[in-house]
Amino acid sequence: MSMDWLKGLLLIALIFVPLERILALHPEQRIFRRGWLNDMVYLLLNGQVTSYGVGVLVIGMTMAAGWLMPASVRAAAAGQPYWVQIVEVIVLADIGVYFAHRAFHAVPFLWRFHAIHHSIEELDWLAANRVHPVDQIVTKGCSLLPLFALGFSDVAIGAYMALFGAQSVLNHCNVRINFGPLRWFLASPEFHHWHHSKGPEGRDKNFAATLPLLDVLFGTSYMPRGRMPSQYGLCQPIPATYPAQLLYPFRSTPAPASRVGAADAA
Ligand SMILES: [Zn+2]
Ligand SMILES: [Zn+2]
Repeated sequence: MSMDWLKGLLLIALIFVPLERILALHPEQRIFRRGWLNDMVYLLLNGQVTSYGVGVLVIGMTMAAGWLMPASVRAAAAGQPYWVQIVEVIVLADIGVYFAHRAFHAVPFLWRFHAIHHSIEELDWLAANRVHPVDQIVTKGCSLLPLFALGFSDVAIGAYMALFGAQSVLNHCNVRINFGPLRWFLASPEFHHWHHSKGPEGRDKNFAATLPLLDVLFGTSYMPRGRMPSQYGLCQPIPATYPAQLLYPFRSTPAPASRVGAADAA
């Protein structure tokens, strides 16, 4: 774990913790809320596990793409102006996120992994980290592999990854921020908080990470004006610690069939 990495963490905390104090959506929520230590463990350990997993996938896929994807296609993608590539990369990657995320909600076995992320009951700047490594590797794989296969430039892919990273922290933050006229064009805390709502309204809605219009297009959007969820989390019990959460999807105790089934049964 390098010092640069620690500096990055401190910088993120220095930006987002005061922001959450100034623009608090749920002012009663504490900085050291329930589960924060667990999510700090995710932040410290999960990134490493996931980056190795994603790294192996990306190297393998890039080699395969070198053999399978015509060089002319790769050259054409990389030859476009950066701003065109960045727009294409964001759209392509978010389509990957959308369908992977939707599958994690719809397929009972996959839901066992994704339920870990939805077990967060108080959203904040740390919450984005609580993702099972299998969930993270599959979702990142679905979004990044097409980009590497098509040969987009590192600049465009790097720009997308920076946007994705910043958005995933911001969109889980305990902040009251409205993107105004851009609210359907760029995912916001308002958009993603509904995805975590405990009540039925936002359930299985708002799967996109960056582009809410994908949810509008595929009929899964929910973002009522002027309202925010009051409760987050699940009705099904999820263990509280990192090791137990890692093992949770593999345990023999039958997990509820899906998020919908879980909540409706409770
Ligand atoms: Zn989800
Ligand atoms: Zn989330």
